[in-house]
Amino acid sequence: MSIKFLNQQDFTIHTHTHEFDGRNSSAEMIDRARAVGFRTIGISNHFIVHPMIKRTKLYGASVAGGYSSMYSSDFDEALAKFIPHYAELEQLRDKNPDMQILRGLEVDYFPTPQWADGFARACEILKPDYLIGSAHFVEYAGTVCNVHDMAILDDKTQDEMLKIYWSNVRRLAGAGMFNFLAHIDLPKKKGLGLKKKWAGEWEDTIVAIAESRTPIEINTSGYKIGTGEPYPGPKILELAKLYHVPMFFSDDAHHVDQLGCCMDDAYIMTQNCGISNFASLQKILDFRGRKM
Ligand SMILES: [Zn+2]
Ligand SMILES: [Zn+2]
Repeated sequence: MSIKFLNQQDFTIHTHTHEFDGRNSSAEMIDRARAVGFRTIGISNHFIVHPMIKRTKLYGASVAGGYSSMYSSDFDEALAKFIPHYAELEQLRDKNPDMQILRGLEVDYFPTPQWADGFARACEILKPDYLIGSAHFVEYAGTVCNVHDMAILDDKTQDEMLKIYWSNVRRLAGAGMFNFLAHIDLPKKKGLGLKKKWAGEWEDTIVAIAESRTPIEINTSGYKIGTGEPYPGPKILELAKLYHVPMFFSDDAHHVDQLGCCMDDAYIMTQNCGISNFASLQKILDFRGRKM
């Protein structure tokens, strides 16, 4: 990675490790982040708790792929994974005094009283440094469906689910509990939600995010899927610029080789779009929505 980007941002706070769906240990991720030139790394594994989660199509694939530990049916199950993981991060802080190591969670938000109570209890125990709001799932026809699985459905069902998806992103902003929102046009991963007919949903979503003042990430893992753009792409970023949504860059690294990946490309793209509304690390960490 060149100096250009690191002058702009010396932190990476959306990353995953091998206890969940990443490939490397936390120690390996910290070492590589240092070698790339970052001064701060945040480890933010998936916090996905839903009573139906193991009935999703993707769950079978996650078991076969060895990353099913990212899914929990209840909060005790999630805590049993995160308590030792966070304890290890504490130890790594002592071993790496030159690096700022943050403990994050990439959270799928489900707006039920049971979820809110369980999540509040988990936060009291874990005391995460920051929370990422993500919408990887839509609730549909009595179950939850991952955006991956939407790709195989008929057009009408897909459209209904995409509408729910965009309203879920607005719901994340309105929840007022996340330090930033992740990959807000995630269905793009499967080629969905890109057509012009969705432009109204994009704008409504950006307006809701702007009203909540929640920062969004420019997630460079979008480059991996061959669209030549991050999540979100330039069209949505133009709207985010228009409505003064604070932004910064993430790599969403699941492997040491992905740390800092494509950040120069994304940075150059933002310069071409005239984007300058970047959020500092402090601003992101200090941000708590109005409801907390
Ligand atoms: Zn994600
Ligand atoms: Zn992620």
